[in-house]
Amino acid sequence: MKLYFHYHKKHIWVIAFFFLSIGEIVAQDLYPKNEKVDVQDYIFNLTLNDDNDQIKGETIINVLFKENVDSFVLDLVGKSGIYGMDVSGVFEGNKPANYTFENNRINISPSSNSKGIKTFTILYEGIPQRGLVIDKTKFGRRSFFGDNWPNLARHWLPSVDHPYDKASIQFGITAPEDYDVVATGKKIEESNLGNGQKLTVYKEPAPVAMKVVTIGVTKFASRLLDVVHDIPVSAWVYPENRLEGFSDYKVASKVLEYFIDNIGPYTFAKLANMQAKTQWGGLENAGTIAYFEDSVTGKNTVEALIAHEIAHQWFGNSATENSWNHVWLSEGFATYFSILYLEHVYGDEKRKDELALDRKQVIDYYKQNPSPIVDLTIKDPMQVLSINSYQKGGWVLNMLRHKLGDEVFWKGIRDYYKTYRDANVMTVDFQKVMEKACGEKLESFFQQWLFTKGHPQIKWDWVYENGKVKINLKQIQDHHTFKFPLEIGLVKDDEIKVVALEVDEQSEVFEINIDTKPDTIVLDPNYWLLFEEKP
Ligand SMILES: [Zn+2]
Repeated sequence: MKLYFHYHKKHIWVIAFFFLSIGEIVAQDLYPKNEKVDVQDYIFNLTLNDDNDQIKGETIINVLFKENVDSFVLDLVGKSGIYGMDVSGVFEGNKPANYTFENNRINISPSSNSKGIKTFTILYEGIPQRGLVIDKTKFGRRSFFGDNWPNLARHWLPSVDHPYDKASIQFGITAPEDYDVVATGKKIEESNLGNGQKLTVYKEPAPVAMKVVTIGVTKFASRLLDVVHDIPVSAWVYPENRLEGFSDYKVASKVLEYFIDNIGPYTFAKLANMQAKTQWGGLENAGTIAYFEDSVTGKNTVEALIAHEIAHQWFGNSATENSWNHVWLSEGFATYFSILYLEHVYGDEKRKDELALDRKQVIDYYKQNPSPIVDLTIKDPMQVLSINSYQKGGWVLNMLRHKLGDEVFWKGIRDYYKTYRDANVMTVDFQKVMEKACGEKLESFFQQWLFTKGHPQIKWDWVYENGKVKINLKQIQDHHTFKFPLEIGLVKDDEIKVVALEVDEQSEVFEINIDTKPDTIVLDPNYWLLFEEKP
C-alpha cells in the first residue's frame, strides 16, 4: 500500500500488540503460527443491511490437518461494548463442534485428531469496529469497504489472520438490491432474492492472504477498461466520478501488460481498480485494488500509485512475505517496480528523479531511526511500514540490478516469481534465487544492505596531477565498512566520462589516468548507489 500521511489520519489508530509474549528473547513477528494445519479455502457469506451496521456472517472453512492436532485457532475480534462479534455456533460438518471463544480467538477442537481435510462453519454477528469500514462516501452514499491491512480481517472475518497461511476465498454478499458489489475474485453469481435483497458471489481460486482480501459495496459506476492477456481490467468508481474515474484508472491496463511481459503471469482472476474509503493512499487488495477517494481527478495524477499497487499483485500478494519483518519483499518491490514501470514509459531520467527523492528520504530517516530494513526488534506489523521497507528496499533492488546487470537481474526476478508464485517467501529465499541467476554468492550484499543499518557516508576530495585524477575517499560511518561499486563522473566541457571503481575499504585512494584536468567530478552520476555525501 501507499501511505498518505495527510490523508485520513483519524483512521490510523495505534494497534495494541495482538499477542502478548513474556520474556521472549528474539523479538519479532509474534504471530503464533501453526504449521500443522493449513486453511485451504474460505467461503465468507455476509449479510449487510441499511438499518444499522450489524453484519451477519457465516464462514465455511476447509482446513487441511497435516499432522494430528488437538485444536486449531481462528482470529475473530469478540464483542466488547458496542463493537465486535458474537459467535452463535461452530460446526464440524453439520455437527456442533467443540470450541471456545475468548481473547479474540476461536479455538476449535476437531472431533478426531486424524489428518486430512475437515470442514467447519462459524456463525457470528456484530458491528465491526475496523476492517470493514461502514461509512458514507464523500458524496454521502452509504458504503462498506474491506480495509484489512495488516491484521484487521479478524474484525469481520474469522480467519488465520496472518499472511503465512493463504487460502482460496469466496464472498457471498447479501445486501439491499440497490447496492453494487465488487469483491476479491471473479463474479460467479448475481441473484435477486426477492424482498429487495440481492446476492452477489465472487470467487478467487488463487491463494490470498487475509491482509489483501476485500469487498466494496456501495453505488458504483463500473466499466470493463480492457482485457490484458485474458485478465479483465475494470474500474469501479463513484457514479458522481464516472468519467473522470474511468479515465484516471485506464492506465492500469498498460501497467498490467508491462508487468506480465516482464515478470510473469498475473495470478488473480481479475484486476479491478476501485475508488474506496481506505485509511491508505492505495491498498493492493488482491485483484481488487482500493484507491483513496480523491485519487479520482480526471487529470491522470495517480499513475505511479496505480503502478505501485499493481506491482504488489506479484510482490506481496502472490509471492508473499512469510513474516512481517520481511515486508520489504512487498513494499520495497512495489516501490522499485513502480519506478521500473515509470522508467519504461518516461525514460531513465524519471528513474533518477524518483531515486534521488527516495535517497534523500532514506538519509533523513536514518538520522532519526538507525535500523536495518529487516528489523527483528519490530513486533507490531504496523511498525514495519517505514522509509526503510519502502524507499530503502526499493534502493536495494536498484543496487542489485546495477550489480548484476539488467539481463541477469530480470532473469532472477522472473525465476523468483516463478518459484514463489502463490506461495510464501523470506529474504533468504530471494537471495538464493538471485545467486542462482548470477552464479555468485550475494551474502555480503544482502547482509550489508538488508540486515545492517545505514549506508556509506562518504567524505572525499580530488586533485589532478601528472595526468592523473587522485580521489581520496573515506567512509566516515563507524559501525560498518560497506563494500560497493561506485561510478565516478569526470566532467569536461559538458561531456561526462564515467569510470567504475570498487570500494571495499574504510579509506582508499583511487587514481584515474586522464589527459586533461576535469572541470568537475561527481560521484554516482547515474544513481546506482545509496550513499550520503558528507562535506
Ligand atoms: Zn505498497
